[in-house]
Amino acid sequence: MAKFIFITGGVVSGLGKGITGSSLGVLLKQSGVKVFMQKFDPYLNIDPGTMNPIEHGEVFVTDDGGETDLDLGHYERFIDEKLLRNSSTSAGKIYSEALDKERMGQYQGKTVQVIPHITNLIKEKIYKAEEVSGADVIISEIGGTVGDIESQPFVEAIRQVRMEKGYDNVMFIHVALLPYLRVSAEYKTKPIQHSVKEMLSLGIQPDVIVARTEGEIEDRLKGKISLFCNIAKENVIVCPDSDSIYKVPLIIKETNLHKIVANHLNLNLKELDLSGWEKFVSNIDESKEEIKIHLVGKYVELSDAYLSVMESLKIAGYEIKKKVKIVWVNARTLTKDNLEKELEGTKGILVPGGFGESGIEGKILAANYARINNVPYLGICLGMQIACIEFARNVLGLENAHTTELNPKTNYPIIDIIEGKDREKIGGTLRLGRYETSLVENTLASKLYNSSTAIERHRHRYEFNNEFKDQFEKAGMVFSGMYDKEDLVEIIEIPSHKFFIASQYHPEFTSRPNKPNPLFMGFVQAVNDNK
Ligand code: GLN
Repeated sequence: MAKFIFITGGVVSGLGKGITGSSLGVLLKQSGVKVFMQKFDPYLNIDPGTMNPIEHGEVFVTDDGGETDLDLGHYERFIDEKLLRNSSTSAGKIYSEALDKERMGQYQGKTVQVIPHITNLIKEKIYKAEEVSGADVIISEIGGTVGDIESQPFVEAIRQVRMEKGYDNVMFIHVALLPYLRVSAEYKTKPIQHSVKEMLSLGIQPDVIVARTEGEIEDRLKGKISLFCNIAKENVIVCPDSDSIYKVPLIIKETNLHKIVANHLNLNLKELDLSGWEKFVSNIDESKEEIKIHLVGKYVELSDAYLSVMESLKIAGYEIKKKVKIVWVNARTLTKDNLEKELEGTKGILVPGGFGESGIEGKILAANYARINNVPYLGICLGMQIACIEFARNVLGLENAHTTELNPKTNYPIIDIIEGKDREKIGGTLRLGRYETSLVENTLASKLYNSSTAIERHRHRYEFNNEFKDQFEKAGMVFSGMYDKEDLVEIIEIPSHKFFIASQYHPEFTSRPNKPNPLFMGFVQAVNDNK
């Protein structure tokens, strides 16, 4: 039977519950425990797929095609396990399931209530994770802050899980802010006390407090938290701010949280092997010299909108001990007139994925700039599509060539909706999740992957239109990756260029510490070599 760890948040959100949970996951996994993670979000949207990236950050895509919360990206990068669409559940998804059941008469006319119907559905998801993952330990993060109206059903559900699974099999870790008051130069424990009181009123006594602080604290404060929150002093963990999220597993290791957890849950830990992680962190510390990459996107107001792209760039940079600095370029305001100024001195340009009209012409200008100035270019999804449109317009002379997503009447529909055998309702549905790309021999793509195939994740609706393939090839573009089953273009490259490659899939979802995605690694290396 699996053991369950629930991570809740106290005082404020944004404390890094996900990073704390993932770090614990790393320590347990590296001690021989099979770990799985999941996230519960209190918002009423059914999934993050249609949420505004500027408000909510990126949509992380799982192997099985789930459009999930960006925290799952952290989980995967940390514990290096493939999570599933089920690993991300919002209150909206739960309520919508309950209402569907009600409409289908499955509640047989009973009054449908938050308790037990909503809480039962939440518990079903928690227990389902045990079934689908076969993990020894399932770490579940409850989004938001304890005390929020929206998160109450989740807190009630996890309280019930302890009753159903038993004290020894369930653990509650409460991550809460221990604020520092600059005026009086002291830490204040009162907010944590109140937060624990709030949890107690909901029937949960946390087993561990992770106090999030700005720096180290005096030992007596731990004693104070222990005394007023009914928690053994050794179970009061202090986790100070860190300059890199990847250092948190090492910080948590020093607190022995993994041992406290193993003790409570009766887990047998093998000797902890963090050597790979330590090497990665020492690379981070040795990465002093910066390399700049221009990222031309339209959600540049919130860097979280490109979280996995950013992390993939950083991870690839650390591999060659370089600190990647991203220069954000707003595609919406990029024009012929300011292009030179905005991209001045650029050593590498990345155009990420996106949907909708705004910023398209700016992105096309950036791809053009990269191509004609021999600047390394990495295009992702829409970034591949616009690179093809640019090539069609400016190399093939196909005036106003476009994607039918944005100009359905174009004479040259370079990017179009393609009937696919694997997708039933083409037009309405996205191509989501994992597909295998066959790589053409002796191309940049096959060299970077050092393989004849690449398995990567997708999230898009439109595809390259094969009617134009011949024309592109004659003019020097190479289609170096294909999804054979549906004859879909996955990767394009221009061999006469220093480094120009773009993929229809999203390579950013598979970068891991010490294991950068090959396209990102090749790109960052090319930028570094571009003196
Ligand atoms: N909007 C494009 C499509 O649907 C690209 C999507 C993306 O970049 N994720 O095909």
